[in-house]
Amino acid sequence: MAKSKLSRPHKLVLLAGLMGLSFLGLGWKQQFAKAQNTEVATGINWSGASFPVESFQEYTSAFGYRGEGFHYGLDLAAPQGSYIRNWWQGTVVEVWQDGRCGTGIAIQSGQWEHIYCHVQGSVEKTSQGTYFIDRAGGIQLWEGQQIPSGTRIARVGMTGRTTGPHLHWGLKHSGRWVDPARVLRSMYNQQIQQANRG
Ligand SMILES: [Zn+2]
Repeated sequence: MAKSKLSRPHKLVLLAGLMGLSFLGLGWKQQFAKAQNTEVATGINWSGASFPVESFQEYTSAFGYRGEGFHYGLDLAAPQGSYIRNWWQGTVVEVWQDGRCGTGIAIQSGQWEHIYCHVQGSVEKTSQGTYFIDRAGGIQLWEGQQIPSGTRIARVGMTGRTTGPHLHWGLKHSGRWVDPARVLRSMYNQQIQQANRG
C-alpha cells in the first residue's frame, strides 16, 4: 500500500474528526453491533485511507439501532457543497438515485464496499454507461472508473431523506455491514502511533 499522500491540513481535519467519535453516545445495542464487527477493523494498515469529508463538523447519527430501525452507516455533518473524499482506492461499482439515500455512490476496494449518500448532483445514463455528475462541483464519476484514495468524489448535499446537509457513510466488509466508526478509530490510533514514532 502506498504511503499516505494527505496534506498536513487534511491530516489535522482527520484528527479532529476522529476525536469527535468518542463523544458519540452509544447505547448497549450499538455497543453490541460494534462488538460483532471488531475483527475486521483491526490488524489493517490504514496509511492509504482518507477521512471521507473535508469540512467535518460533527457526527450526527451513529451506526446501530435508533427509533425507526437500524441505521446502517455513520452520519457526518458538513456544510452543504463541501467536498467528500474517497476513503480507499477502488472502483465505482454503482451510482444511483432513490428516495432514501438520494444520490448515492458505491465504491469497491477489495473486500470493502463504501457507500456515500445524500450527495449533490444526479445520475445519468448514456450508451457509454452510467455516470454520476455534479456539474457545479466539477465532478463526474463513471461506473467502472478507478478512483485513488483521497480523491474528491462528490459534495455534501441533501438529496434523499435527510433534514440537514451531511454525508451518510456506509461500509460493508465481505457483504456485511460494519460500523464505520470502528474503522475511523482504528485509522486514528495508527496515526497517533505513527506521529509518536516521529
Ligand atoms: Zn445516515
